[in-house]
Amino acid sequence: MKQEWLEGHHARKRFGQNFLHDRHWIDRIVRSIDPHPGEAIVEIGPGQAALTREIIALAGHETAVEIDRDLAAFLRTQFEESELTLIEADALKLDWNAVLPEKSLRIIGNLPYNISSPLLFKLAEAADRVVDQHFMLQKEVVDRMVAAPGSKTYGRLSVMLQYRYSMQKLFDVPPGAFVPAPKVTSSIVRMRPRPREELAPVDVETLGQIVTAAFGQRRKTLRNALSAWFTAEELAALDVRPEARAETLPVEAFVRLAQNVPERA
Ligand code: SAM
Repeated sequence: MKQEWLEGHHARKRFGQNFLHDRHWIDRIVRSIDPHPGEAIVEIGPGQAALTREIIALAGHETAVEIDRDLAAFLRTQFEESELTLIEADALKLDWNAVLPEKSLRIIGNLPYNISSPLLFKLAEAADRVVDQHFMLQKEVVDRMVAAPGSKTYGRLSVMLQYRYSMQKLFDVPPGAFVPAPKVTSSIVRMRPRPREELAPVDVETLGQIVTAAFGQRRKTLRNALSAWFTAEELAALDVRPEARAETLPVEAFVRLAQNVPERA
């Protein structure tokens, strides 16, 4: 019988390694992903295959991206080539448009927490052909992702991701589900890209710059935080109160600002 875990593997902090060991949580996560044969499932950071095994049992095949060479070598001993296509790479540097081109992807992962925000932004590159994404992340990050305007955690991550995805926090996972146990609670989030035809057309880079400026100094009014972009009158004309603060502004209002940056002489 194949060994279930890679004996003697010391979890590497630099790769954010906390391995899922608790059957109850593994089953619950896989049930919420609900994998089926024929789907193009891509797992980021399969590690010691806690989720991978269950996904392959249900879907028959998975593609996985793993940065750790020792774990990649271990994974090759665990599955047939017909079951697992392994891409040994840094998910942050990968050209996601070249991963199973033509296919509609279901991306999953118990993500390395130290790179979660840049990875989420990187994956947005492929959003046009993503069906859904299920990720385990630090609870505090998931709370920021799904936060509504007016809440303390509503910020740049909320606006930029909510523009592109509809998102749902599913449930929390306690530190004891992992070895080694992380210091923080984790949460599972489901992300579905909004269909292109529903997206308000906007230059995402401009949107990002405005959102960054607006939240850069949270205590400032928008009139002050966005003074390099808009006068108070221009904000008011776009139905944005100049005296309001960024955390009260809905995503649509940020989009309206990005669509109407005044051209200066
Ligand atoms: N999926 C496994 C589980 O649930 O037990 C492992 C999860 S562990 C939190 C994160 C995994 O991502 C590790 O296997 C780690 O080596 C891998 N990883 C870290 N940084 C990565 C990167 N930039 N690209 C791809 N994989 C990465």
